[in-house]
Amino acid sequence: MSFASRTKKELTQVSGKPCCERAELTALIQHCGVLHDWEQGKVLDLSTENAAIARRAYTLLRSAFAGPLEVLVQKKMRLKKNNVYMIRMRIGAELFLQTLDLLQEGKVVSAIPVLTIEQQCCRKSYLRGAFLASGSVNDPDSHTYHLEISNKSSEQADHLLRLFQEFRLHAKAIERKKGHIVYLKEGEKIVEFLGLIGAYQAVLHFEEVRIVKGMRNQVNRLVNCETANLNKTISAAVRQIENIRLIEERVGLDKLPFKLQVVAEKRLQYPEITLQELCEMLPEHVSKSGLNHRLRKLDEIAQKIRAEKRKL
Ligand SMILES: [Zn+2]
Repeated sequence: MSFASRTKKELTQVSGKPCCERAELTALIQHCGVLHDWEQGKVLDLSTENAAIARRAYTLLRSAFAGPLEVLVQKKMRLKKNNVYMIRMRIGAELFLQTLDLLQEGKVVSAIPVLTIEQQCCRKSYLRGAFLASGSVNDPDSHTYHLEISNKSSEQADHLLRLFQEFRLHAKAIERKKGHIVYLKEGEKIVEFLGLIGAYQAVLHFEEVRIVKGMRNQVNRLVNCETANLNKTISAAVRQIENIRLIEERVGLDKLPFKLQVVAEKRLQYPEITLQELCEMLPEHVSKSGLNHRLRKLDEIAQKIRAEKRKL
């Protein structure tokens, strides 16, 4: 099961106050409902490919309205072979009055003016419903963080964008073939959103993956950094050894001042160690900068030898 499916499954088990259930149902109807005419009133069809969401929608409709509900299952023939679950509610004349604040006349539910949802608890539930109905989220393990909810109209998208804004979630909107998309790109904001709508297991998983990913990046950075330092150490040591060999060959190390001679001998003896380690190998106490100074002297001598060689 994908991270998105697991998250949705978890969300269908969130329990809430009646006011919140109603807000969630409103979002479900607005995002995946279609309203048809019927001789004795209207028919509302709520369709989803997700069985858990169908059960959720059924339960919410059941507790909000007294009317009879039908459940239809269709097998999708083309492309994906998923089932489509449809919950059909026939809305008779008097029931229709009750539902007027949820639905308004019109063929498509997207034509319903967006409701203002007063309470904050209900706003979160509305977001949960919208995500259940037409949302998706990338697995945190995939290379980009992404959460989106598609909308039927730009009005619906604007409303959703404002709701996101109220919770300081900086969502963005874009128009695509499949609808008006409202999306989040930052991992941190996706976690906040999932927490807000009650997907706590999803939050835990997301954070765990994010921490492991962060650590992996940090380790990679450290390794890269150390490799760079190591390369620097090695190329410096290679140059020092070349210098010393040249001096040995042309002048002889025993002709060097004692301080330089000691360093040259130890360096030849231990070509791979760092300067700090080289300091510790010397018989007398020498600081790292003191050692550097001596190595520079050796470098100067070698440079002179090279220059003379070129003159010849
Ligand atoms: Zn509420």
